[in-house]
This record gives sequence, structure tokens and C-alpha cells, in this order.
Amino acid sequence: MSSPRQASSTGSPRKNRNDPIFHCRVCFKGLPTAASKDPIQPPFWLTSCGHIVCSDHIFPEGAPENATVKKHCCPYCEKGDISLVGVDGAEPPEGLKDYFTPATELVENLAGALKFQYDNVLRFAAHYKSLAEKLSEKLDNQKSVLLRVKDELLEARELKNSG
Ligand SMILES: [Zn+2]
Ligand SMILES: [Zn+2]
Repeated sequence: MSSPRQASSTGSPRKNRNDPIFHCRVCFKGLPTAASKDPIQPPFWLTSCGHIVCSDHIFPEGAPENATVKKHCCPYCEKGDISLVGVDGAEPPEGLKDYFTPATELVENLAGALKFQYDNVLRFAAHYKSLAEKLSEKLDNQKSVLLRVKDELLEARELKNSG
């Protein structure tokens, strides 16, 4: 089992230039290759409405300095008042790593996390089960002690009555 720390740090960002995740929703343009490296950085923008669009489509005149601060309109779904975060295919945006982690890796991490939680819950349940068993054993012992005392009392009373 991989530790949770390992599970979260192995999430490698997508680096494949042919990765179908990275394409503009409007024109389907993919990440630029090393040879045709786009001068505009970053080449793609992730919108708060959940769309990846290329710089050409969101900023036909070129990306402004304050692109990530200002509000914009999505060229794909036309939602207004959206915020943007630049994506270049190398480093996933802060807090959105899962969105850019290959699905197989996500499932592996999830399986690791589930196993970790399940193991802990099972251990917890086993602990209380054994406590309950110990308590019930104690109760049985006390019950048998009481029964013995009762028998002895009865015996003593019989002796007294007969004597
Ligand atoms: Zn485009
Ligand atoms: Zn949109």
C-alpha cells in the first residue's frame, strides 16, 4: 500500500504535447510543439467556467498583463465575469492538480486513499469489538460469582434450618 503522502506527491502533471486534454475548446488547437513554440505565454487559459481556450481566442489582441486579475468572458460558452488561470501543459494550476492528472493515476491514488481509510475504520471497529468481548467476558465471570454466592447462601440457610 502506498502511503497517503506518496499517493498525493506522485501525481505527475501531464507533459505529453499530444495530450488531448490540452486543446482549445473553440479551435481545437493543441499545445505548441517545441519547434512552433507560441510566443504568447501561457498558450492556454483555464476558465472558471471549466473550459480550456487558447490565447488567440480569449485575447485576440494579445494577453494583457493583468489577465489573471481582471474578469473576462468565455469565448466558448459566453459566460461573463469569469476568472482565468494560465496553463501551459507543464505545471497544473494551483489547487487543480487532479484535473490534469491522468485518470489512471487518479484511480490509483483514490484506491490508495480508500484502502487507507478502510484499514483505519476496520482497525477502530476491531478495537471496540475486542473491548466489547472483554467486557462481556467480565460480566459472565461476575454473573457466575454471584450465582455461586447465591448457591452458598441457600446451602447455608438449609444447614441452619436443618440444624
Ligand atoms: Zn482557440
Ligand atoms: Zn466557458
